[in-house]
Amino acid sequence: MQKFKEAVCFDDVLLVPQASNIDSRTEIDLTSNIGGMSFRLPIISSPMDTVSEVDMVNAMNELGGLGIAHRYNTIEDQASIFSQVPGRKAAAIGVSSDFMDRAVTLYKSGVRMLCVDVAHGHHSMVKEALKSLRAEFGDTLYLMAGNVATPEAFYDLSQWGADAIRVGIGGGSICSTRIQTGHGVPTLQSVLDCASVDTEAKLIADGGIKTAGDIVKCLAAGADFVMLGSMLAGTDQSPGQVFTSAEGKRYKVYRGMASPEAQIAWRGNARSLEGVSTTISYKGCVTSILEKLERNIKSGLSYSGARDIAEFQAKSKFIKQTSASMVESGTHILNG
Ligand code: IMP
Repeated sequence: MQKFKEAVCFDDVLLVPQASNIDSRTEIDLTSNIGGMSFRLPIISSPMDTVSEVDMVNAMNELGGLGIAHRYNTIEDQASIFSQVPGRKAAAIGVSSDFMDRAVTLYKSGVRMLCVDVAHGHHSMVKEALKSLRAEFGDTLYLMAGNVATPEAFYDLSQWGADAIRVGIGGGSICSTRIQTGHGVPTLQSVLDCASVDTEAKLIADGGIKTAGDIVKCLAAGADFVMLGSMLAGTDQSPGQVFTSAEGKRYKVYRGMASPEAQIAWRGNARSLEGVSTTISYKGCVTSILEKLERNIKSGLSYSGARDIAEFQAKSKFIKQTSASMVESGTHILNG
């Protein structure tokens, strides 16, 4: 058995520019699909309690992406979110105790996309949950599941019934899994590995995505969608109030769902401590953030001469950069 393998993360690589005859970003189509559902923007908001509730879900729907309402509330509270969502309704559920009751209630509220949302998705409990969800609902809903980090896990979840799989373990900006447990795989490497699996399941890159460039790299590596936490937190549409510091700086809370603060808030105790809670600068309306991301992602495709994601994945080529070239890749103007 091979015991050791090298892995690359976002900052280890760049995409090599290629010949293009694309005159304008309007010629570029970012549409991506899950099952029969098509999305104009391949971006999904993470089901976290400081990212995705009613306002984020509605904003994501309006912009052509997808918002997944988090599961860290009562079944009734989660279901009530969907009475305020005219567009696509997707929700997260767990795998223990009340997950089927939650799924049935959400289904009755019009939800047709469920996300089985656990930290270690390559697990027999996820298999059982996916199998029973399929048995209960047949093909009348789309199932997402995760998170996974390896091609073996990606394959297994696709066989267990997942239509889309979240890929990335330990890379989230508020995640301490790698520190606490020593486990994880750089998200970009997991995407590269999982994209080589021969299955229909869609790949959602999740965790550690911090720039439009990282999104472009995920798509090039084989992701069909990206899932964002910190890039969408701190906005008008993320849950939570805006605080103002003594210096007049505005901020909001962003926290990992395994942080002590989040765990105590939703289940009254902190059992696993694989996340942190922090503050993040207030960023205003999420719409302008997503519009900028859309423009930058389209520019990314045009640098590879690609008009859509499939063409981009076929054409794009990565190059590994050294730590010296990483300095050159950042803005590095000398100021006197
Ligand atoms: P970000 O986009 O880098 O901020 O990462 C967001 C992702 O981190 C989420 O979509 C989850 O996959 C993951 N995540 C959320 N909460 C935690 C946590 O407490 N510990 C570890 N990972 C987390």
